[in-house]
Amino acid sequence: MSMDKDTIRGALGRVPYAGSVDVASAGALSKVSYCDGHASIRIAGGRLSPADRAALSERITLATRAHARDSGEQVEEVHVEVTDEAPTAAARHDAPTGGGHRPIPIPPKQGGAGAEKTGQLPGVKHIIAVGAGKGGVGKSTVAVNLAVGLARRGHAVGLMDGDIYGPSLPTMLGLTGLEVNVRGSMIQPLPVHGLKAMTIGKLVEPDKPLIWRGPMAHGAFKQLVEQTAWGELDYLIIDLPPGTGDVALTMAQLLRLTGAVVVCTPQKVAQDDAVRAARMFQQLGIEVLGVVENMSWFVGDDGKEYDIFGRGGAKMMAQRLGLPFLGAVPINMALREHSDSGDPTANFTDRSERNRPLVEALERLVANVEGQVAMAAMRQGLATPTLSIS
Ligand code: ADP
Repeated sequence: MSMDKDTIRGALGRVPYAGSVDVASAGALSKVSYCDGHASIRIAGGRLSPADRAALSERITLATRAHARDSGEQVEEVHVEVTDEAPTAAARHDAPTGGGHRPIPIPPKQGGAGAEKTGQLPGVKHIIAVGAGKGGVGKSTVAVNLAVGLARRGHAVGLMDGDIYGPSLPTMLGLTGLEVNVRGSMIQPLPVHGLKAMTIGKLVEPDKPLIWRGPMAHGAFKQLVEQTAWGELDYLIIDLPPGTGDVALTMAQLLRLTGAVVVCTPQKVAQDDAVRAARMFQQLGIEVLGVVENMSWFVGDDGKEYDIFGRGGAKMMAQRLGLPFLGAVPINMALREHSDSGDPTANFTDRSERNRPLVEALERLVANVEGQVAMAAMRQGLATPTLSIS
């Protein structure tokens, strides 16, 4: 497929504009031109705030570059101008449109225009996204164990399944049989494994495909973030969908994160995708806290360590990008079994010989993330160092 102004228009139409409205339904794309690797795009900014304009401009740039990549084209320059003109449709409604799954049946939160931009959830100290370049590398496993591990260290932790296309938390946390309560317009998170969890998997009918169009995905994510009664938290961990799609853009628009953790397996092909995920976070203005190497090695029945996928690959990738390496997690049968049976706590409490390398690896990982979050918060001015003299 070649790239021209019409295909760019098509691709940019799905970019979230504001609330749960995309650029096409807002009627905000006023001009697109493309010639010899130079794209110029004008967007009607209407009443968007300066911060929303900057985020929109970033999303448009990213979406144009993603479209170029899909079309096999080289784009040298993307010029985005967000003007004061009003978008033609000026869609003010919040109702997602189109096919796919029914929206979550929770009454919308009241709060007027101010509710459009959360910036930071009141009461939540650190929001941390867990992302990966591709599926199946253990992103959800790392998110779950990070959350459980932080909770075990005495922190108040929330875990949100932002993987709205393929939620894993109902299985990994053993949520079957638990009822979700809704009070007014707020969903009560489920108290499990010492943390508060919420997943779209508990709000839609099981086994139904979760097909979200851009604006619906945006709306579903936004509802999960803003309409869950998270309360006071030290950490909110968000398990993102794999890859570099719309949900990450929505998240960056809605929330101020302390940082993101990138999960990767050691192989070269996985690293390439993880580099893209890390670059995406950086382009969205989200600090990358570091890289986790999952499925790093395997301990056989003979007690020997086997580097099945080429242990150390993700660590080298982190070094190449100048990112902290947060730790390596071995391939471990107990980990898989505990995930399938919804008992991640057992990863930390099972002191059997076969589980020992896993406990040590997870505890190291959790401590490293804790440290990187503290340093990132200081760099970002979210926290000040404390000095105690005794
Ligand atoms: P992703 O979120 O990246 O798609 P998951 O976390 O869902 O990946 O993991 C995919 C599968 O691999 C799950 O069944 C999980 O239990 C298993 N798994 C992940 N990491 C490990 C590991 N280190 N050892 C054994 N099994 C693992």
